[in-house]
Amino acid sequence: MSAVLEAVRPIEDYLVMPDAEIAERIEEARKELGEKVIILGHHYQREDVIAHADLTGDSYQLSVMASQTDADYIVFCGVHFMAESADILGKPHQRVILPDLGAGCSMADMATIEQVEDAWEQLREIGVLEQKVAPITYMNSSAAIKAFCGRHEGVVCTSSNAVPLFDIYLKNFDKMFFFPDQHLGRNTGAKFGIPLEKMVLWNPHEELGGNSEEDLREAKLILWRGHCSVHGRFKPWHVEQIRKQIPGVQVLVHPECMREVVDLADFDGSTSFIIKTVENAPSGSKWAIGTEVNLVNRLAKKFPDKEIHLLAPDLCMCATMYRIAPQNLAWSMENIIAGNVVNEIKVDDETKKWALVALERMISMTEKK
Ligand code: SF4
Repeated sequence: MSAVLEAVRPIEDYLVMPDAEIAERIEEARKELGEKVIILGHHYQREDVIAHADLTGDSYQLSVMASQTDADYIVFCGVHFMAESADILGKPHQRVILPDLGAGCSMADMATIEQVEDAWEQLREIGVLEQKVAPITYMNSSAAIKAFCGRHEGVVCTSSNAVPLFDIYLKNFDKMFFFPDQHLGRNTGAKFGIPLEKMVLWNPHEELGGNSEEDLREAKLILWRGHCSVHGRFKPWHVEQIRKQIPGVQVLVHPECMREVVDLADFDGSTSFIIKTVENAPSGSKWAIGTEVNLVNRLAKKFPDKEIHLLAPDLCMCATMYRIAPQNLAWSMENIIAGNVVNEIKVDDETKKWALVALERMISMTEKK
């Protein structure tokens, strides 16, 4: 029987199929769908999924690349906010599929639109919005928060372009409210010499985020209390320990790591920066990298002439992204063939419109730089 006729089987049936059969089914489905489908694999995705990806990259890069194709179906092997971004940036006919709806992002989930709107209202009530305040959100946030930033003269940023965007907003606004990653916000603020006391933390579970009115008025940067559960696991003692264990090692970390870790590292930058730095490093150089384990392992495999270690000795993977197994991928692909689009991610038109405003602002501001 062809895969097509079997495609309406429930996901549970796929979960018990042997890995080799699943890999074959994915490739057969891919052949059958041809250019109608594009499979995206985020850099942090597991190896057995990356093996089937047409394109690999970071979340924004993948959404842009997919929108430049004519594929009808974008199967995003990443997490929920990434699939939303692909739908926002995609062509009207393109349908985006997240092979497991449980693949969320713990950081993005730490800021809901209701909490953000409530925080903004509280700032209005105490008169802080009489100053020029810009909301800025990291790409790793819901479409609703991106739209909120679009409506209020704000912008979306990535870990690659946070610095040029902060530069523009610091020159043109009195303060910024940054969602949802406190570490990227603080690390970027520190690059502009903003003292720690001018970077206050907003705890969404406390009145005024746990701050005094005066602190909020004086602040240059209000940081939402969110963090990445993967990058948050790297601690300063990991840096100290690896330097003792491996003389000459260079420490390279993602800016989602806490300030104290970034301070001790030799270099910090986005996923693309990390990849380029390792690519361009001389043979024999030694690296301890503070980012997701799948990416670090892939770099170690790709560059055997360099000594590459994960900064923390214990495993540090993105558990939610890991939920997308080849089984989920096979299930979603075969359902497409059967004319049954499962796990479609669709952003409503109004949210899409304003989220696009924030994203297009990001593009035009960074192009000018
Ligand atoms: S690595 Fe962190 S920020 Fe990235 S998707 Fe996973 S939980 Fe979210």
